[in-house]
Amino acid sequence: MTTDLNINKQNISESYMFDHYIEKNDILPVFVSDFELRKIYNPCLKGKITITLEGKYLLCPMLRNLVLGSVKESKIPDLFIKGTIDRFYELSKEKLYPCKYCEFRYACLDCRAFELLKGSSLGEVKFCKYNPLEGIWG
Ligand code: SF4
Repeated sequence: MTTDLNINKQNISESYMFDHYIEKNDILPVFVSDFELRKIYNPCLKGKITITLEGKYLLCPMLRNLVLGSVKESKIPDLFIKGTIDRFYELSKEKLYPCKYCEFRYACLDCRAFELLKGSSLGEVKFCKYNPLEGIWG
């Protein structure tokens, strides 16, 4: 598995090059079933897998450098058997900073690719206008 998370910006849509901050209006009502799932899983990555034209397994089509394997080496179920993909699926907001302190964490979406593109680490959210430690929208 190649996990160089430096995103190749040539593969990113121009619309993603702007700063998208999570704002108050982005916090939407959530179904009970989603609420429960988001306690465990990332709201965007869960269930996602991408197969490129060259036969590489990627998690997210935006995360081109995060190669989980290839169709020549393994079948899709192998990614689950080996746990390769689970650590990304299980990147719930409970594991992201500062979201783990936020009361909106199960009603809020997430884009790991955008945050990584903007220089955040895999475990942090920088592009949000809410400060959960102070309870204040910026
Ligand atoms: S701190 Fe995290 S969970 Fe809370 S509103 Fe911002 S992005 Fe959403």
